[in-house]
Amino acid sequence: MLKLENITKSFNGTTILNQLSVDVNDNSILSIVGPSGAGKTTLLRCIAGLDRPDSGKFILDGKEFDPADDSDTEQIIGVVFQDFNLFPHLTVMENVTLAPIMVLKQDKKSAQETAESLLKELSLESHAQQYPFELSGGQKQRVAIARALAMKPQILCYDEPTSALDPSLRDAVGKVILELKKTGITQIVVTHDPEFASNISDQILKVTPINK
Ligand code: ADP
Repeated sequence: MLKLENITKSFNGTTILNQLSVDVNDNSILSIVGPSGAGKTTLLRCIAGLDRPDSGKFILDGKEFDPADDSDTEQIIGVVFQDFNLFPHLTVMENVTLAPIMVLKQDKKSAQETAESLLKELSLESHAQQYPFELSGGQKQRVAIARALAMKPQILCYDEPTSALDPSLRDAVGKVILELKKTGITQIVVTHDPEFASNISDQILKVTPINK
């Protein structure tokens, strides 16, 4: 279980997250919902270790950890960014294998084998040698998901996974998230879309802007 305890974060003296606590069960889907400016992305960035809270604790399976500490090669948290952040000059296969080879020190062959099975799982096997610009938004997003999964995170976070997509693809990404749940991974989804959240989530955390 992932526990967030009393997470607090301010920017320039303005409190964005105030003593926020939540428990996320293993293999569950938590959606973080709330209006624009409520602090959803800030919370996700703290969970993903891209930013540090001013105070509060992250506890995984009873042990406190620092998401921002990247000294351990074992990845706890993976992120799928809103604009996917794929490397434009690398093929799909290269995008998915780069970090496992560079960071996890996997040999190229086994990284490629893992990538092949992830791409198959995400219906991308015929796109392995294409570049991001040759793909649709939904395909790029699935490559971003495959790339995050290649690092074998225990928890996968998504920042607004429906907002860069055509509305007709909203259900498709929901299906991918629900399919991934069957693999045992825990998922945390930031979304401004309450209907999408209620379709996919085991638990919904509502964040609201803090009035000063
Ligand atoms: P949401 O994702 O819910 O729209 P954000 O987490 O992006 O909200 O932003 C919450 C508030 O924090 C906003 O008022 C935003 O301007 C502010 N904020 C976010 N990041 C920074 C930053 N790096 N520096 C200063 N203010 C920030």
